[in-house]
Amino acid sequence: MSLNTKTTTLTLAAATLLGSSFATFAEGELNLYSSRHYDTDERLYSDFTEATGITINRIEGKADELIARMEAEGANSPADILLTVDTSRLERAKDAGVLQSIESAVLEERIPANLQDSDNQWFGFSQRARIIFYDKASVDNPPMDYVSLADPAYKGMVCHRSSSNVYTQTLTAAVVENHGADAAKGWAEGFVANFARDPEGGDTDQLRGIISGECKIAVANSYYFARGLRKDVKGLSAEIDKIGWVFPAQEAEGAHMNLSGGGVAAHAPNKDNAIKFLEYLASDQAQQYFSAGNDEFPAVPSVALSESVAKLGEFKADAVDLSAVAKNVPEAQKILNEAGWK
Ligand code: FE
Repeated sequence: MSLNTKTTTLTLAAATLLGSSFATFAEGELNLYSSRHYDTDERLYSDFTEATGITINRIEGKADELIARMEAEGANSPADILLTVDTSRLERAKDAGVLQSIESAVLEERIPANLQDSDNQWFGFSQRARIIFYDKASVDNPPMDYVSLADPAYKGMVCHRSSSNVYTQTLTAAVVENHGADAAKGWAEGFVANFARDPEGGDTDQLRGIISGECKIAVANSYYFARGLRKDVKGLSAEIDKIGWVFPAQEAEGAHMNLSGGGVAAHAPNKDNAIKFLEYLASDQAQQYFSAGNDEFPAVPSVALSESVAKLGEFKADAVDLSAVAKNVPEAQKILNEAGWK
């Protein structure tokens, strides 16, 4: 194959050291800023290059660092695309002015309305459900909704990650949106009172806590569990049968969904390629790969789930407007702090 199939990856630190490492405009190139932290995304990029001949230059870093970098670079930014996880970060990027509205009939047709920004500055390409897991041997009546995680019946049993984590913030912001700020306050206090331990680690560590016996109940994104079903995850897969799961609030708002998505950079030098890339992410091929490669739910409803994801079963997703939820994040952060959620 030609040179065009090459994918360049730099860490944010390395790219910063090199200064402006990419040509701002280069025919047949695309400059991607990504905070998705999954090795499997490699396939997405190489498939795109193979299909289009467009080379992807990639800078990876934390979402907030990438957004700050785009702001600092301003009109000279080489960024064509920002990819990240969680609606609150996509909204933060929009508020910072580093994205632009685009027109794409393909994206309008493929991506459901509640999974895209009303100004077309960002689009969701995959989803994960934030659900409740429990130790089948010791928990007879697991919580059936998010509100019940604060029920005193579960005192000393529940594990969740820290309040500095975006998943915690957005789940709390969704509780604010669905139940009101006062209810969310009481909820956060009750949740903290039920902690089995101080928040620590990532979502996989919450699941490992159930295996080790430290946690009886834990909350995590679905893809961490599905990954443990699909391949060997240390401290999880060997005894994963011990873990049961609940899609919460099925009689009410439905399971909280966490979105991964992206948008075209405000000053994208290769805007046409950027739109092509987003349209590719909405294709059947890429959508299947989100499910098969990273155990996520495709954003495009007609795309089949991979085996590991299908095993979780059918459920009702919370259809709340995610950009409204994202606007509650500062309030959610305050509520978490006041509740003493570490
Ligand atoms: Fe994650």
